Amino acid sequence: MRAFRSDAGLAVVLLAGYVALMLLPLALAALQDRDPRPFRDDLSSGLALVAFAMLLAEFVLSGRHRGLSARVGMDSIMRFHQFMAHVLVAFILIHPFLYSLPMGVAPYADVDRSTWLALATWPAITGTLAWLGLFMLVFLAAVRDQLPYRYEVWRAGHALGALAVAVLAWHHTVWAGRYSNDPVLAAIWSLALAAAVIALLHVHLVIPVLQSRRPLRVAEVRREAERTWTVELEPDRERGHPGIAFPFRAGQFVWLKLGRPIGRITEHPFSISSAPGSWPRIALTIKEAGDFTDHIGELAPGTPAYLDGPYGNFTLVPGDRRPLVLLAGGVGMAPVMSLLRDLRDRGESRSVQVFQANRHAGQILYREELEAMQEAMDLRVHHVLQEPPPQWQGETGLIAAELLRARLPEDARRDAQWAVCGPPAMIDAVETVLLRDFRVPAGAILSERFYYRFGDAAGTARRFLWAAGTATLGLLAGALWFAMR
Ligand SMILES: Cc1cc2nc3c(=O)[nH]c(=O)nc-3n(C[C@H](O)[C@H](O)[C@H](O)COP(=O)(O)OP(=O)(O)OC[C@H]3O[C@@H](n4cnc5c(N)ncnc54)[C@H](O)[C@@H]3O)c2cc1C
Repeated sequence: MRAFRSDAGLAVVLLAGYVALMLLPLALAALQDRDPRPFRDDLSSGLALVAFAMLLAEFVLSGRHRGLSARVGMDSIMRFHQFMAHVLVAFILIHPFLYSLPMGVAPYADVDRSTWLALATWPAITGTLAWLGLFMLVFLAAVRDQLPYRYEVWRAGHALGALAVAVLAWHHTVWAGRYSNDPVLAAIWSLALAAAVIALLHVHLVIPVLQSRRPLRVAEVRREAERTWTVELEPDRERGHPGIAFPFRAGQFVWLKLGRPIGRITEHPFSISSAPGSWPRIALTIKEAGDFTDHIGELAPGTPAYLDGPYGNFTLVPGDRRPLVLLAGGVGMAPVMSLLRDLRDRGESRSVQVFQANRHAGQILYREELEAMQEAMDLRVHHVLQEPPPQWQGETGLIAAELLRARLPEDARRDAQWAVCGPPAMIDAVETVLLRDFRVPAGAILSERFYYRFGDAAGTARRFLWAAGTATLGLLAGALWFAMR
């Protein structure tokens, strides 16, 4: 039985479906009975058709997908969204420069635009604005962390900017595109644009309205470790919570919004640190990391709160008996604790080893509870400190190959299920050790990343690059076929 819900088969099907859908406009364009044009001109049109389909699909990819994220992981979806954004920008970058035909007002006799590019004024302007806007959008996303704006400001600007680019690109495509002024293709583009708008509205309107029907309140805030707090939420019956449970699997995460649900752009993703069995309380363990989280310890009990979720696939399959090795760095211990609490609550008898890494002792999370758990379950907890105090009995340094070799016999390493959560650099380093040094199959490693980075190419992220690279090649091949047909 598979221990984790990483579904490679589903990923292949999704990838094939994505490529087929992105190539659909090309297929419809190819079916049109048009005079052939030079290779460069049809390659330009082909790339633009694929890129516009990709642009509209980006809205759906960056939406909230509970079921999908529970199967393939939110991290993979976001990474795919980021990777494909770069690919579509590359396609669009060369689109205007590939043309060899003269541009302007097409001669009257050139009814199907095979010798001349008919660019009337407005479509040319909207195309140019969409072209420039797209670069701006992707550039600002790439340098997001260096911008002097709050994350929320960037996020709202990204969504609105993307919508503006999509509308401009739609206008250009339908009015200037040689193939897209066909009624069928034009109707498909309009429907696809509507789907993109619906995907945006789903995140910014539908979810908030649904959230407003399930109001929660802050029940308790307690200091868990240095600059780290546990916030416990409970249903707010007085404000109309229907009392039904919030169903989630241990290890999943939610988006937290405080105050009012509608019209607020401030919401943040946090892993649930409690077990599903602890409902009607639900706990998040939050480390101070910026303008929102820095004030989390000051939250007053009774503060209105709203959750969207659950999301993510950092989850175990109930009943799996294989030994489990959980590796956590800093607040990455939060979802790991949810897994442990759930195993304890359900009385599962599998053998578990936890490696919790921190810089110093003041950052160790859930120390007493973990000690009590060691008495109650087949659990061994290893605390790893980079800066240990003088009489420290535990491990020192980082979670590295030597430490894992010393504490886990070879057969335990080989047969184990692994789950890793922590800072991106830690996840990359640990996954590289597991895959390269211990030859652990990628399917036996589960990880949750708290920061989505486009450039990740270490550990299990390599598999993702293969998938996105294959999709890109498929799309490129489609555009080349279109130009050569
Ligand atoms: C799946 C997931 C699970 C997480 N679980 C936990 C957890 O259990 N405990 C914990 O302490 N932290 C967790 N985080 C990280 C947490 O979301 C950020 O630390 C927090 O949002 C920072 O917000 P800020 O305004 O305080 O800091 P800022 O300085 O505004 O942000 C710091 C960085 O956090 C990221 N970030 C900020 N806001 C958002 C947002 N709305 N959406 C996505 N990323 C954002 C950005 O990369 C940003 O550069 C998780 C993140 C993800 C993606």
